[in-house]
Amino acid sequence: EGWPQAKIRSTFVEYFQRHAHTHWPSSSVVPHDDPTLLFANAGMNQYKSIFLGTIDPKTKMASLKRACNSQKCIRAGGKHNDLDDVGKDLYHHTFFEMLGNWSFGDYFKEEAIRMAWECLTVEFQLDPERLYVTYFGGDDLKAPGVPPDEETKRIWLKYVPASRILPFDAGDNFWEMGDVGPCGPCTEIHYDRIGGRDAASLVNMDDPDARSGVLEIWNNVFIQYNRDRHGLKTLPAQHVDTGMGFERLASILQGKMSNYDTDVFTPLFDEIQKVSGQSKPYTGKIGEEDKGTIDMAYRVVADHVRTLSFAIADGAVPDALGRGYVLRRVLRRAVWYGQHFLGAPKGFVFKIVPRLCEVLGDAFPELRRAQSTIMAVLEGEERDFNRTIDKGARFFQKRVSTLGKGEPFPGKDAFHLSGSLGFPLDLTEIMAEEIGLKVDTEGYHAALKEEQDRNAAAVAKRKAARSAGADMTFAAEQTSAIAHLAKTDDAAKYV
Ligand code: ATP
Ligand code: MG
Ligand code: MG
Ligand code: MG
Repeated sequence: EGWPQAKIRSTFVEYFQRHAHTHWPSSSVVPHDDPTLLFANAGMNQYKSIFLGTIDPKTKMASLKRACNSQKCIRAGGKHNDLDDVGKDLYHHTFFEMLGNWSFGDYFKEEAIRMAWECLTVEFQLDPERLYVTYFGGDDLKAPGVPPDEETKRIWLKYVPASRILPFDAGDNFWEMGDVGPCGPCTEIHYDRIGGRDAASLVNMDDPDARSGVLEIWNNVFIQYNRDRHGLKTLPAQHVDTGMGFERLASILQGKMSNYDTDVFTPLFDEIQKVSGQSKPYTGKIGEEDKGTIDMAYRVVADHVRTLSFAIADGAVPDALGRGYVLRRVLRRAVWYGQHFLGAPKGFVFKIVPRLCEVLGDAFPELRRAQSTIMAVLEGEERDFNRTIDKGARFFQKRVSTLGKGEPFPGKDAFHLSGSLGFPLDLTEIMAEEIGLKVDTEGYHAALKEEQDRNAAAVAKRKAARSAGADMTFAAEQTSAIAHLAKTDDAAKYV
């Protein structure tokens, strides 16, 4: 009956297994062996060395021809950063699952499109009339020398009328791993939640509150070129890399207008209401209608507890550097939204974790195994932040009351908030935004740099003194202060 979450995953995976794909498990969401990546942000990440041709032929992965899975993804920093959209819209999360199928030098466009179409319209029984597809229509600026992908258009014409096959430029329909490397055109599948109308003009419209009802669900990338310093060359082997948002598909199959109304989120809202003591349940309101920002706060907290729990289960921890700093910021946002908008008491985020483990622990047993670790880490992080949160909020209020009309929140005060009171810059920006203020981020970065220069000078001085036989302990302290600041600086890159 219906489409509970487990059935959606298994239907997808079994469909592709029947078409000779190996179910290759999701990789860790924390890419321990890829320093160029903060978090796994797409299903293809773990296969990168196959596409680059650098994979060790002795490994098991090297023998894969076709694979499929549901990959854990986090987009909260780096190239893909959806953090600022979370809570404001109904279909971007920082943690989400990406259903994917891959061909490594095996099938290409013809078969990929046929399977995607059959998977959606036969296996999942989506109404074909509600599906719109896009293809690469050429782009002299962003993808010079790449011809429009007429082949993809021609294949789609077997399934979809021309009025629902739409060309877009490289921004939406050309995929590249980086400035050089494997790349190619893609075709995306969009779904009209409303139906019974011509929705072509609503495809790829940036739609913050999702009222258009048209939603991107599945991207199929055709890796057929390699870009080097001299330009594009056709690859000897052609690959397919696809990704479909699991929560988006679930919202459609479960007949909802929002990812947050599916069975992966609603139990979390019940729990959040319980642990926060909020009298109003989640009602799905958005934008202006969401008086008091209550529903947004529910969404932010639910989203963030998923991200934190999966990242910690895979071995990451909140701290002052790189991906750890992303997690610290995510936790502090959750704390802020929960306490400020839902009236949650201090120390509530970690209490949601057992419910999350019930909801997703069957699909991802690592979550259940790590439950007590996740809770302990989050409890500690919340305690740290709660030591200064009231002081920080008061400091913020006090500074705001001295500002003239239209004046931004001063950068040096934002720096004081982040350095001494535990409010990362983006959290200060959220507080400022709430009352219609901007933060002087340039001033913030200037203050950060000044502090670093000052410390570097102090260390240089101590070094000189040390070579003259001065106190060694003090020099060591200064060095560790610098190391700390270096970390802050690195973290600041992701702000
Ligand atoms: P969008 O345009 O909606 O931001 P995208 O083009 O950035 O999506 P892709 O990189 O093509 O997304 O990823 C493949 C699929 O993963 C998308 O078609 C979508 O269904 C899903 N997806 C992408 N980002 C998110 C997210 N932040 N939360 C939930 N699902 C997502
Ligand atoms: Mg996106
Ligand atoms: Mg898109
Ligand atoms: Mg896309």
